[in-house]
Amino acid sequence: MHVRGVDSFDGMTNLPKELRARLAERFTLAFPQVVEGTEPANDSSRKYLFALGDGNRIESVYMPMGDRTSICLSSQAGCAVGCTFCVTGFFGAGRNLTPSEMLGQFFTIQQEHNVPSESLNAVFMGMGEPLLNFDHLMTTLDTMYATIAPKRITVSTSGIIPGIEALAAAPRRPNLAVSINAPDRKRREEIMPITAKYPLDELIAVLKRYPADKHHEITIEYVLLAGFNDTPSDAMALARLIRGLDAKVNAIPFNEDVNLPSWMKRPTDTAIDRFVDTLVHNGVGVTVRRSKGREIAAACGQLRGKEVATGRVARGKSLP
Ligand code: SF4
Repeated sequence: MHVRGVDSFDGMTNLPKELRARLAERFTLAFPQVVEGTEPANDSSRKYLFALGDGNRIESVYMPMGDRTSICLSSQAGCAVGCTFCVTGFFGAGRNLTPSEMLGQFFTIQQEHNVPSESLNAVFMGMGEPLLNFDHLMTTLDTMYATIAPKRITVSTSGIIPGIEALAAAPRRPNLAVSINAPDRKRREEIMPITAKYPLDELIAVLKRYPADKHHEITIEYVLLAGFNDTPSDAMALARLIRGLDAKVNAIPFNEDVNLPSWMKRPTDTAIDRFVDTLVHNGVGVTVRRSKGREIAAACGQLRGKEVATGRVARGKSLP
């Protein structure tokens, strides 16, 4: 079904007709329903809001980049981790998505844009903490591996240590991205309360033991907030923190949103450049996610947040 991209039992023409009829009697093939697809942004990225069978809404993003396309997927219908810079965290916990719901986002977007599997990347960086939905995530990955190599898939975590250790022990592993966002425990805990449970020094120690290589990269994600974590001395402290770790940094200038604290601002381009230059001078590989999808509210949870802000759905509820 996934390799050939069929969306009905009838389309499985390599199976006997009788078997297809029996499958159709007993099982359902259903994809999440697109309730909103933004107009393509300047960079052609496009965000999707899906309605699940129980009314929950989740988001995914289509991001073409040269000869490759990334699809950013949600793993939960909300998030209990509560990072204060994140709209999904602001709206609170939501249930785990099933493998079918995660794969449904992926294949719906792949098919709509007719993207060949060879040029696809998948990133679990949408709504939810994927490592808190570990079993369903692993089933989803196992299915995806039929069409995409593990090195083309990235799982992004807020630093759930038991989940990272379980992923490290898996026979096939995707790339790992870890959201660090501050160079010291105190500031990290201010914006990522999960730090109280999984301390920053323990997290870094676990990452140093993670079996990384060219097929299983580690990325340190760092959301840049003006006046909070964006100075050259913060960059130097970050370089010291991750010294000895085989990882690159992905600096992500903050995406402002009405639902988030008003003090949280995107740094100026000059501040971003200074931060990045300092990392580079300290021997750290760094990429900057400039504005992919900024104009379509592509940061995690922002499209659903817009529905709440306009009164179309309620905060903290299963959405109708
Ligand atoms: S950044 Fe990720 S882990 Fe943190 S609240 Fe948002 S969805 Fe959850």
